[in-house]
Amino acid sequence: MDIYLDALQALHKLLDHCDVSWRDSVAKSIEDWEKNRSTGYHLSMCGKECLMDVILESRQHKLTEDQEVWFNRVYHYLSVICYFLARGKGAAIPASEMKAHLPLSFSKNSSQNLLSGWRCFSCGYGEVLEMNMDFYLANQWARENILQAYEKGTLVGFVDFVLQDERSDFPPLKEKLKQKIFKSGILIGSDRHGDECPRCGCIDTAAFDWELDPQEVQFIPSLASLPLSWRYPGKRR
Ligand SMILES: [Zn+2]
Repeated sequence: MDIYLDALQALHKLLDHCDVSWRDSVAKSIEDWEKNRSTGYHLSMCGKECLMDVILESRQHKLTEDQEVWFNRVYHYLSVICYFLARGKGAAIPASEMKAHLPLSFSKNSSQNLLSGWRCFSCGYGEVLEMNMDFYLANQWARENILQAYEKGTLVGFVDFVLQDERSDFPPLKEKLKQKIFKSGILIGSDRHGDECPRCGCIDTAAFDWELDPQEVQFIPSLASLPLSWRYPGKRR
């Protein structure tokens, strides 16, 4: 089984749907591999301002606004897989090792999948939007599913599934996520309503990130977020 070719073809298929110019570059990577057994061309595209930085946008590319978050995550994980396989000269990398290469998120803190929202620093009121939950789930869903497809050598089939846009496991995942958010005392809002805290009325509010606790039961403030320690000394809350 040629795992590198499977990964490149999967990337090509996704770009064929969304971004024709980068698709043609990946076609050259495939040609380089098939003709010369070389990963050199592909690696040359993974430098600065590269294939891995592409952001698929509904305004520019052939995808809907709803698909944006999912397609980008699948795209980014696939491009990481292609990069590491190319670096290893196209040889298969064990799934456990590949897992370590796939970041938990594509934010500044890639060692955590963060749930973003905003918070009042006076009373502790916290809120997330649907969009924030979608980002969180997209990281989790894309990473888990792409790893499984990588292990089975079915990345092209996985992209076919993504393009059909049928994420049947998505509603139960979202329901579970909502339960954890409720348990954490965070509200799910429908729209951002200015800087004023709806609970206490103060404007000491800011963007905020939470992470899942080690028991995966509820969300706790991310260590990178501003602490409320002046109010609750010694407590991470
Ligand atoms: Zn407040």
